[in-house]
Order: sequence, then C-alpha cells, then structure tokens
Amino acid sequence: MWTDLINFIDHHYEEMVDLRRYLHQHPELSFQEEHTARLIADTYEQLGIPYQSKVGGNGVVATLQGGKPGKKIALRADFDALPIQDEKEVPYKSKVDGVMHACAHDGHTTTLLTVAKAMKQFQEQIPGTVVFVHQHAEELTPGGAKSIVESGVLDDVDAVFGTHLWTSTPYGHVQTAPKEFMAGADQFSLTIKGKGGHGAMPHQTKDAIAIGSQLVANLQQIVSRRVDPLGTAVITIGTFHAGSTFNIIADTATITGTVRTFEPALQDFIIGEMEKIIKGTCISYGADYDFNYVKGYPPVVNHPDEAALVLQAANQVEDVERVEEVVPSMTGEDFSYYLLKKPGAFFFTGAQKQTDNYPHHHPKFDIDERAMAVAAKTFITIVKEYNNETSC
Ligand code: MN
Repeated sequence: MWTDLINFIDHHYEEMVDLRRYLHQHPELSFQEEHTARLIADTYEQLGIPYQSKVGGNGVVATLQGGKPGKKIALRADFDALPIQDEKEVPYKSKVDGVMHACAHDGHTTTLLTVAKAMKQFQEQIPGTVVFVHQHAEELTPGGAKSIVESGVLDDVDAVFGTHLWTSTPYGHVQTAPKEFMAGADQFSLTIKGKGGHGAMPHQTKDAIAIGSQLVANLQQIVSRRVDPLGTAVITIGTFHAGSTFNIIADTATITGTVRTFEPALQDFIIGEMEKIIKGTCISYGADYDFNYVKGYPPVVNHPDEAALVLQAANQVEDVERVEEVVPSMTGEDFSYYLLKKPGAFFFTGAQKQTDNYPHHHPKFDIDERAMAVAAKTFITIVKEYNNETSC
C-alpha cells in the first residue's frame, strides 16, 4: 500500500503542477485568503474527507480516519502570499497586481492536498489518523499557527510535521536539524525626534540624520561587542528614512529592522541593550524618540526523535539524493507554535532551480516543481515510519 501511495504521487504529478500554477496565478495576502481557503475546503468536500473551515481565522483542517489502528499525525501546509509584484515571465505568473506566491506556499498547499487525495484512495489501509492542517497567514504576525493551535484542533495529535520547499537547498536534498532549526524573528521601529532647521545653521538644530547614523553604528556594537560570541543573534537595520532636501536639516528619522535569536534570555538581553543605546545616544544629542519592539514568532525548535524520523523517512524516498542534518537558519516561521504544543519536526525540501534560481520573497522567485513530489512522498513515508510500518 505504501508503494501505491508513492506511485499515486508520480501518476498525479501533472495535476500537481496544474494546481500549483493555478494557485500561483491567484495569490491572496495574509488574513485575506478566502478564495484559497474555499478551494481547499471544496477539495475535501469532493474527496469526502471531513473538515472544518474558519479554524483560527481562514484555516482549514481535515481529518482522515484510517481503517487500521495507529497514531494521530498532523501535517501542515500554509497558503498565504506576499505583497510583492511578480516579475517572472512565465505563463503562470500572478494575475493579481502586487501580490505573489514568493515563498512557495502554493507548492505547500498542492503537496498536502495531493497527499490527502492519495490517502483517501487507500483509506482502509491507512494506520491511525492523519490531520491535514492548511494554515492561513504565515507571513504576517501574529500569524495563523498560534490561533490554529489555540483552537484545539491539535490537542489530541501525537505529532506534527511540516516542510518548507526551499530554494537555497538543491533539488533532491532534504534537510533538518535535531533541535534549533529556524530563528525567532522580531521587528522594531524607531523614530528619532530631533529639531529641524537650515542646513547652514546646525548649531540651532538637533540633526535627526546625524543622530540616526550614530545609532545605526552603535546598534551594530551589540552583536559584535556585547553578545557572547558563542550565542547566536542578528540585528539588521532594514530601512532608514529621513530628510526632504539637500539644505535642510531633518527633524525626524525613522529606522526599522529585525532581530533574530534562538534563546529567550538573549532576546531579552538584546532588547535591553537596544533600549540603553537608543536612550543614551538620543540623550547625548538632546533628542527624543519612540522605540517600538515587537516580538515575532518564537524560534522553530524541532524535537530530536521526530527530526531523526524525518531524515529516516526522507532517506527512503527514491527521488531524494541527499538527506542532511544542517545548522539552523536565521529565517523565521510560525511552525514554532505547533512544536511548542506537540512533538514534531520541520524540514526543508530542496526546491532550487538549476537556472534562474532566486531567494524566497524575491519578485522573480520560483521553485523546481518536482520538489512538491519529493515533499509529498516524504510526508507519506513519515506517516508510515511514525506508525512503525514496514514497506509493502
Ligand atoms: Mn514561507
């Protein structure tokens, strides 16, 4: 039966590509994914798999009760898109201006729906229960995962697994880590309130650009000089806006950025250091400020047994050339909320294109679509392994 499930994926590969391309052309922003949620719900309706819509927002959760006793395993796929203009020249380019599936969530959705179709076909032989978690709003805090977990749909599952089709990883590779896998991702904004004036009379002003530049330099000292070198952290200033023309001293400057960490204690330490530096720098110039720090998703921390099981499962998938334990990535994901609730693991399925490969969130982002089949087969094999079934 397990071989039949794998074959099902191969036989339905063209259909997967069509579905993914349809979704790619019809992306929806986080928290606004009504059409996509309806498409997912309609698919379960047609398959005759019981499902719940509007779980924690636009989430759709379907439950397939297998014909044999076994574990209850949740598999998750997110389905929101990003506020990015699609700049690819392909027939399946986004039809929505300024909105794009630039993070492969169209591929995740296709993968999970296809696994559900395959399992429905062999329902009587499936051990245990498989819960298909289609999550809205991964890209925008507070995200969809937290509210889905809070809705209680995972209360009685034994484990939860998820994957990200990943273009930094070559096609055919599957990667995960035994513990820390992706970082906690926070954001901050800072407005420096100086005093504007004539470019020729700086002594009568509090130059927001000079203060802001000093701050950018000072904030860089936190990771390089104050964080334990064996700790892991990133502080990135992403924007710095100030000024109107060449001979006017700016009265305000706004700075935004992100902080990435794995340890809550280090995260709090960094917030404290940032506050000290911002306050001290602004005082020294006599300027005022507003500092707004928003803690984002917690880090994705895998459970070692489940991470090992992912690698063991991926190893059995024929299309997989290489299975590897990797160092954590400083990117973030709200899959963390599932792992705080239940044992499980998140993994990367290599989706790098051989030519024209771009990073996630790039206007020309695209995936090697064959990665969807690899992810589907890995999910199927995870269900098999978690139930201690042998191949047949
Ligand atoms: Mn993503």
